[in-house]
Amino acid sequence: MTTKEGDKPWEEGKLVPFGPIQINPCAGVLNYGQGVFEGMKAQRTKKNEILLFRPLDNGKRMEESSSRMTMPPYDAQKYVFWIKKVVAANEEYIPPYGKGSLYIRPILFGSGPVLGVAPAPSYTFIIFVVPVGPYFKEGFKPIKLEITKQYHRAATKGTGNVKTVCNYAGTIKPAIETHERGFDQLIYLDAMHEKYIEEVGTANFFCVLNEELVTPKLGSILPGITRASIMTLAKDKLEMNVIERDIAYEEVFNASEVFCTGTAAVVTPIGSINFEGKEHVFNNFKVGKVTQDLYDLLTGIQLGDKPDPYNWVVKVK
Ligand code: PLP
Repeated sequence: MTTKEGDKPWEEGKLVPFGPIQINPCAGVLNYGQGVFEGMKAQRTKKNEILLFRPLDNGKRMEESSSRMTMPPYDAQKYVFWIKKVVAANEEYIPPYGKGSLYIRPILFGSGPVLGVAPAPSYTFIIFVVPVGPYFKEGFKPIKLEITKQYHRAATKGTGNVKTVCNYAGTIKPAIETHERGFDQLIYLDAMHEKYIEEVGTANFFCVLNEELVTPKLGSILPGITRASIMTLAKDKLEMNVIERDIAYEEVFNASEVFCTGTAAVVTPIGSINFEGKEHVFNNFKVGKVTQDLYDLLTGIQLGDKPDPYNWVVKVK
């Protein structure tokens, strides 16, 4: 669906077959990166229902990302309406229970022509989907990470807290280099002090320190929907103290458990963190109890196996 030049409201959307789109070479997104996206999943339950997880929160985050990038926000309620329509229309591609999910990728970008650095005159919003296998192909296994001072992901007061395409292009080279050194992903530090943990590639960071669950405070990190859910579950179900604050990387080396969270990563245990050639191992490279409990609680709700007291899941069918 698109906006018309000079028109603020969005045109009504429609379902169309997946395929290439035509785009003006002067489009705002191609020249100045005026674009945002979201990432969600639809999953089948044992009873063959189809569930989404907190879609309205994704819609609201897309509204915020769009405003930051000077683009007309698409209404979050209507966003959920269209997410459901696209998922229902692609039902045959949703893997069976426990075998994967339908990944949902909404993109919103400046499609109208613009030559000076300015907002594009019109915008396009597309939702496409793709079936994906389970994230943990070899089982629920801790990953190996590295802390880098070589690159930063986001500047203080920059755009790190919104899901704009601009934040991602620059992270591909660091990720390739860390893979070549034998790590799964890297941990970015804050750009101002190069001291505080920010994020793990495209996932939020958590550690268990003195039996409290600690996570970097919001600022230049993406406010993950999984992050918010994990904080609630740890408080309510595990009765843990949950603290959002600056976490100096040296502190983390004493953590009893470390993990990261995201739509794709779900809850991924972190087995070791390498810093300046020294490897710091957590919980003997085994999945810790808090990590396992939070993974079970979250996936139980997402897959419809456990009650959902928070009304987080939304039924498509
Ligand atoms: N951090 C970044 C940079 C991300 O791209 C993502 C994925 O969307 C996350 C964190 C996790 O966010 P969520 O839990 O909403 O998927």
